[in-house]
Amino acid sequence: VAKKEGKSQYCFFQENMLIEHQRKIDIANAIEPGLERGEFYICYQPKVSSDAEPRGVEALVRWNSHSLGRVAPSDFIPIAERSGKISALTDWVVERVCRDVADYFQDLPVPILVSLNLSAYDLKRYQFSDFIRSTFETHSVRPELIEFEVTEHAYLDNLEMANRFFNDISELGCRVALDDFGTGYSSLSYLTRIPIDLIKIDKQFVENIGLTARDDALVLTIIEMAKRLGIELCAEGVETEAQRDFLKIHGCNLMQGYLFDRPQELEQLKAIFATTISEQSGVLTHR
Ligand code: C2E
Ligand code: MG
Ligand code: MG
Ligand code: MG
Repeated sequence: VAKKEGKSQYCFFQENMLIEHQRKIDIANAIEPGLERGEFYICYQPKVSSDAEPRGVEALVRWNSHSLGRVAPSDFIPIAERSGKISALTDWVVERVCRDVADYFQDLPVPILVSLNLSAYDLKRYQFSDFIRSTFETHSVRPELIEFEVTEHAYLDNLEMANRFFNDISELGCRVALDDFGTGYSSLSYLTRIPIDLIKIDKQFVENIGLTARDDALVLTIIEMAKRLGIELCAEGVETEAQRDFLKIHGCNLMQGYLFDRPQELEQLKAIFATTISEQSGVLTHR
């Protein structure tokens, strides 16, 4: 009996693996047609000061597929990377975001930085920085308003190409942010060698604020480290007032999370900014 059960369990696992595998193939095959049919769109999540004033937005890609329904970026980005479809997707994101910057963000009365996420694969693409430069030119985008978020894993994946990309990008005048900081397995030595403007504390650390003294100590150490290195800091995944207060008291003045705003489609974001930014710029002009 045990042998029989073992066998059927084995078949069950194998079947699930096949279904999983088929879904990955389906996702990979649906990306390019999806781009052509306009199934992808961008949501923007504000980055705010500790007093909840908007300072920037992060562009996060969304996909509502005709054939597969909603697919989360955590599902399709890794598949796009492994199947070689990521460059088409990244190019689309860069183009789309540049248009939004030119049409809207660039004309706001206060400076709003716009961040985009890049994958490891993008950093290895020849002439990717040329594509970025020419897209900026096409849309008359000011490069100082654009920040590229890259994980340390992506950076360390190919140091030589990544360094070349970062040099090109900083020459253009864009900023570089290190995303999901603290989740990789790397040494810290690279922090002094690449031009990083901003470190994003991964939400896993933010989530643990207040749990134990050691969890708090870890966040304090990251804050202190960034301060000493002269690198700006942003906490991601801030969901509670306790987390916000802890970060604010200890000098992390840039935050992002559901406590402030969820990622929003541009039209909804405009409505939010219409109140928050006019208040902010109103204060400035009355001084
Ligand atoms: P990320 O860049 O670290 O983005 C942060 C993720 O946390 C986003 O998930 C965001 O919606 C979510 N988030 C924000 N605030 C909170 C919060 O308070 N609580 C919780 N639990 N989550 C929060 P999303 O949009 O599903 O994106 C997941 C990942 O997919 C991103 O992580 C990024 O690595 C990748 N991604 C998203 N858009 C793009 C893109 O255009 N290109 C590339 N290459 N990767 C992208
Ligand atoms: Mg990011
Ligand atoms: Mg992040
Ligand atoms: Mg993250």
